[in-house]
Amino acid sequence: MVNKYYGSCLCGRVSYEVSGDFDAFYLCHCSRCQKDTGSAHAANLFAKAGRLVWLKGEADVTHYQHPGSLHTKSFCQCCGSALPSFSESINCVVVPAGSLDTPIPVTPTAKIFVANCAAWSADLSNVPSFDALPGQAKRDPK
Ligand SMILES: [Zn+2]
Ligand SMILES: [Zn+2]
Repeated sequence: MVNKYYGSCLCGRVSYEVSGDFDAFYLCHCSRCQKDTGSAHAANLFAKAGRLVWLKGEADVTHYQHPGSLHTKSFCQCCGSALPSFSESINCVVVPAGSLDTPIPVTPTAKIFVANCAAWSADLSNVPSFDALPGQAKRDPK
């Protein structure tokens, strides 16, 4: 039986289905992924034999290929959310983990390009955690 996973963008115009198994799950700290996500790292799943089907909103999916590199990004042109893409160069479906709506049976394989890690994100182990906005919810006792 082929595993199926579903995902969508923030505004809900685009939704997709990915069938297959995930071979790797990388947290990429490279400088391009920092720009691309506006955050510390990208979180991408790779499915070599995966199949990507747009369930709705394909016309709203925009692709960006960074010149002179393998870095690509698909995103919703309405809300800007990251969406999956098929990368021909590595013959792989690449799925931004945060775009998924269904649980996945895997945890990250590795952090990569940590040499480019933003200084502020190198060690987050002592940062306080809150269940919601600070002051509105109980602090995580951990
Ligand atoms: Zn959207
Ligand atoms: Zn990267």
